[in-house]
Amino acid sequence: MAFVPDSQLAQLADQAWAEMLAKTPVFNSPVIAERLARVAARITGVSGRNDLSWEFVVFDSPELNAFVLPNGKVAVFRGMMEFATSDDELGAVLGHEVAHIVSRHPAERVSQQLAAQVGMTLAQMAFGGENGENAQLVAGIFGLGATYGVLLPYSRTHELEADRLGVELMRKAGMEPLGAVRFWERMIERKERQGAPPEALSSHPADERRLTELRGAVGASR
Ligand SMILES: [Zn+2]
Repeated sequence: MAFVPDSQLAQLADQAWAEMLAKTPVFNSPVIAERLARVAARITGVSGRNDLSWEFVVFDSPELNAFVLPNGKVAVFRGMMEFATSDDELGAVLGHEVAHIVSRHPAERVSQQLAAQVGMTLAQMAFGGENGENAQLVAGIFGLGATYGVLLPYSRTHELEADRLGVELMRKAGMEPLGAVRFWERMIERKERQGAPPEALSSHPADERRLTELRGAVGASR
């Protein structure tokens, strides 16, 4: 697999984050921002990645989604903040996102993307276009779609790995790991009620399998 230097990955992430902030309104609620910051601090505090400048922002969009960039910037959409009613459920969401970074999933993903872009270096991808014309490409390598709220999940393997490590982070942070199980139970219920998958999550690992593995992770480590 191609080697992607951390410094270049961070530069790309800074660029994608700036693009996100430029085109997506931030949800203006000090109460919700405070709740996010409080839960996030517990998770990042046990992540072993205090070298990153973690930042958690609520974007004003109804999507049930969240994503993380390798520079420690985490976006949580308003819809997700509203859905994750308990702090343990929110901790499950954040634990999952932080786990992607701890497991270095973005570097692997970018390497795969680079391998698909024959003859293109990372620097050309990121900085070759004028006036941000490559911004879309840069965002795409981190899984951000052309419009916000449309996110491409990591591979099934990476997603399940992030679920497992996320539960570990919750436990280390003194949170209730069953929050992750409850979150997915409610997500599946919601899906069944609506008769259609929440769009952005539809390509995540099959939900029942995910729930089964989460139950195992929570139960096995008690
Ligand atoms: Zn994920």
